[in-house]
Amino acid sequence: MGARTGAEYLAALDDRAIRVEIEGQVYTGSNVSSIPQFRNVVRTYAGLFDLQHEPDLRDVMTYESPTSGERVPMSFLQPESVEDVTRRGAAMRVWARHALGQLGRTGDYCNSAVMAMAGAADWFGQAERGFADNVRNYYEHIRENDLLLTHTLVLPQANRAVGPSQQRNQVLAARIMDENDNGIVIRGARILATIGPFADEILVMPSTVLKGTADDAPYSFAFAIPCDTPGLRFLCRESFDLGRSTFDHPLASRFEEIDAIVVFDDVLVPWERCFVVGEPEVCNGIYTETTAAVHMTHQVATRVTAKTEYMLGLVSLLTEAIGIEQFQHVGEKTAEVIVALETCRALLASAESGSTPNRFGLHTPAWPPLNACRNWYPRTFPRLAEIVRQLGASGLMALPTEADVFGPAQDDVERYLQSATLEGADRVRLFRLAWDTCLSSFAGRQSLYEHFFFGDPVRMAGALVASYDREPYKELVREFLSS
Ligand SMILES: Cc1cc2nc3c(=O)[nH]c(=O)nc-3n(C[C@H](O)[C@H](O)[C@H](O)COP(=O)(O)OP(=O)(O)OC[C@H]3O[C@@H](n4cnc5c(N)ncnc54)[C@H](O)[C@@H]3O)c2cc1C
Repeated sequence: MGARTGAEYLAALDDRAIRVEIEGQVYTGSNVSSIPQFRNVVRTYAGLFDLQHEPDLRDVMTYESPTSGERVPMSFLQPESVEDVTRRGAAMRVWARHALGQLGRTGDYCNSAVMAMAGAADWFGQAERGFADNVRNYYEHIRENDLLLTHTLVLPQANRAVGPSQQRNQVLAARIMDENDNGIVIRGARILATIGPFADEILVMPSTVLKGTADDAPYSFAFAIPCDTPGLRFLCRESFDLGRSTFDHPLASRFEEIDAIVVFDDVLVPWERCFVVGEPEVCNGIYTETTAAVHMTHQVATRVTAKTEYMLGLVSLLTEAIGIEQFQHVGEKTAEVIVALETCRALLASAESGSTPNRFGLHTPAWPPLNACRNWYPRTFPRLAEIVRQLGASGLMALPTEADVFGPAQDDVERYLQSATLEGADRVRLFRLAWDTCLSSFAGRQSLYEHFFFGDPVRMAGALVASYDREPYKELVREFLSS
């Protein structure tokens, strides 16, 4: 099949009977794309698929499959050179910019993980029960069919002081209940799966909290299954897309990805979909040993660069609109956004140009700049949102809705909400976008998301310190001291 169009994605989604629970409604049938809370965002996702077929983007977004000859998404390209890594980056940039960096689960994110795991398939083969071919076959399956994946890693947040096997309820975190000729049987829950209800497949990957003990073995697995697998349910939070217009809720009405708790009611995972079973030590190594973490962070760094470009554009239009650009502190805050953008770009460029083959021969971006990016951005994005709040001030609350602006309040809006550069209606349009970026429930979720996107920043900082080679710098100081 190769790279899909938006219409093909929607048709396949509507063929699946994905079980979704949201705001008291239980949906068990097909036609997920018409569930009110998802109607808009699935169309945004369909638009991403369509971009792959734009004549001037086709060569950026897709490449020729080495097996079928079909055009397949660039995020599956197994890079053999620096040039291949930058080709991957260029494709990621198209989607990231199209969505202003607001979507965290565009297909290229999980595709990058599976691409890297397949490149390191032999590593999976070293496990006691090796599933190397499963990883290779799965990669080929999703590449050739251009499937949209989400993933779920984290165990329920019941009691973090003890491991999964010591929780009050013995079936809390998703665990292996049984193994039989057909596969493994999973019961329990995982937190969370963004876009779970409208993805084709879910990667159920190891959490990084596993201890290498027998107690953790039932919680140690990596597999992938279709989102309509019997027994699998998605229990969603409430939606921030209230079905309002793009004028009123410019971001939420397009980019509300939804987050869902994933419940496994004795889900049978066929053996051919298992990548690791019952081996905590192997699970703990998946992201680092295969370099999946590096390729995923390449996508994340590309996305946050696009998001920061958007933030700079927004801050610039907003300060211009209300004539505050000449104030010193406004310049200082705008400079903070520029510095953030240039930092993103520098880290990304350094990662791409510094790519080298990993031990499986797959060209892989340089990890230190990407690791710095994933540690730095969770602290940076909330500050950027704060800058929009501080500069927007009351303008973020003096915000009639579309019905007012183009209805009875039209004259008031034109007179009282005019700005230095914009007519009333356009100024409200701009400020509603600023509000949805820094204050709305959608905006609050974005700040939380950026903070925890790649895991707990506290523990990521610990991992950065532990893995960073500081010896040359210690030596520098030692030499100075001894001179
Ligand atoms: C909007 C959103 C979308 C998400 N989407 C997905 C998704 O699609 N797929 C997915 O797999 N996950 C997703 N997540 C989950 C995300 O991966 C986690 O939020 C992140 O890994 C942190 O884990 P936690 O939320 O369980 O926090 P916890 O681990 O419960 O931490 C809570 C607090 O306790 C502290 N803490 C806990 N344990 C320790 C410790 N051992 N040492 C030091 N401090 C500790 C933390 O620093 C933190 O402040 C999403 C999260 C959000 C917010």
